[in-house]
Amino acid sequence: MDFSLTEEQRAVQEAARDFALGEVDPIVDEIDEQQRFPMEVMKKAGELGFLGIIFPEELGGAGMGYVEYVLVVSELSKIDPSVGISVAAHNSLCTNHIYKFGNDEQRRRWVTPLASGEKIGAWGLTEPNAGSDAAATQTKAERVDGGWVLNGTKQFITHGSVGDLCVVMAVTDPNGARAHNISAFVVEKGMEGFRPGKKENKLGIRASDTAEVILENCFVPDENMLGEPGEGFVQALQVLDGGRISIAALGLGTAMGAYETALAYSKEREQFGKPIAKFQAVQFHLAEMATKIAAAEILTLAAALEMDRKGPNASQLASEAKLMTGDLAVWCGDLGVQIHGGYGFVKEYRAEKFYRDAKICTIGEGTSEIQRLVIARNIVGK
Ligand SMILES: Cc1cc2nc3c(=O)[nH]c(=O)nc-3n(C[C@H](O)[C@H](O)[C@H](O)COP(=O)(O)OP(=O)(O)OC[C@H]3O[C@@H](n4cnc5c(N)ncnc54)[C@H](O)[C@@H]3O)c2cc1C
Repeated sequence: MDFSLTEEQRAVQEAARDFALGEVDPIVDEIDEQQRFPMEVMKKAGELGFLGIIFPEELGGAGMGYVEYVLVVSELSKIDPSVGISVAAHNSLCTNHIYKFGNDEQRRRWVTPLASGEKIGAWGLTEPNAGSDAAATQTKAERVDGGWVLNGTKQFITHGSVGDLCVVMAVTDPNGARAHNISAFVVEKGMEGFRPGKKENKLGIRASDTAEVILENCFVPDENMLGEPGEGFVQALQVLDGGRISIAALGLGTAMGAYETALAYSKEREQFGKPIAKFQAVQFHLAEMATKIAAAEILTLAAALEMDRKGPNASQLASEAKLMTGDLAVWCGDLGVQIHGGYGFVKEYRAEKFYRDAKICTIGEGTSEIQRLVIARNIVGK
């Protein structure tokens, strides 16, 4: 595979880096402490095309591919994984679900304002009793004249309280075969019976919005169903393949951020009369971090390239990249704190923030255990 970036891709990477340094870096500590979703940053990200990276220009998107997507999400996550996950969830969960499975009218109606950043999107699969086992969905959609009435609670939904619309998976055929009885609906802010519930108080990525989504006798018209009844769960699995590449980019960027912060600190901090970067023990930590980051970057780009060329290994590579970068982010976050010593344990430096933020990478969009299951199924069969 050719991993060399084109001129255009380098320009996209640079634009994302400049944006992260100019618009995100100055407010990182405040938004983390306050758990404030930076809507102003998201709006500017929209103006730069970062909220519609993988969608065609005629639908308001940037018309780019997964390689560019990985570059943008990893550059943002190097500075703030909260912004990285928001851009990732907006692009590849909500918007991509509508883009992949919506009809022309639905794409025009929702993808266009989402891709430009005019609207913020959420995607609701997880429930209190249906996480890794998402086919155990309990949210119900009952058939009525002209549409469906939805009842249920979605949990841990990114943009659950700030989103303008949410793609929601609900059981439309309670007697149907497991995983083939679920359908996908677009539920919009302002619809009666649709509201955010509890906003989560989180360990990390505290500036990203995570909340319950509550559906109480919420009428959703027929034209808001994506695809055919019963296809929602299978659609969701395909959406997650793309999503996992963006979470791999989140893990990669988080690992890079932890590493770069530790490298800079190790050159500044002096003990025993010299910078701690001169001690071999610290050098070995940095060398290992740099090596594993380089390997993870190649695997993540391989997954993105395979997705762009619609190759047969995209799903497996996406899971492999997510598994590897998730573990790497957690490991680099830990070493980053270690290299900072006591200063890593307090909020004066960002090391502790990368340590906290990294953990989501082994949980969101399928835990590391579930990635191992997906990879193993590909290797040995079901
Ligand atoms: C910050 C945040 C943002 C999120 N955003 C979204 C979102 O936007 N939309 C959305 O739909 N969801 C979202 N999620 C939900 C996320 O995808 C789930 O938390 C995740 O899939 C795990 O589900 P669970 O939390 O119910 O854990 P569980 O499924 O209960 O898992 C608990 C443990 O058991 C293990 N386990 C479960 N089943 C198996 C098995 N078969 N084999 C081996 N081990 C197993 C898991 O790996 C894990 O270690 C978000 C979560 C968080 C924390």
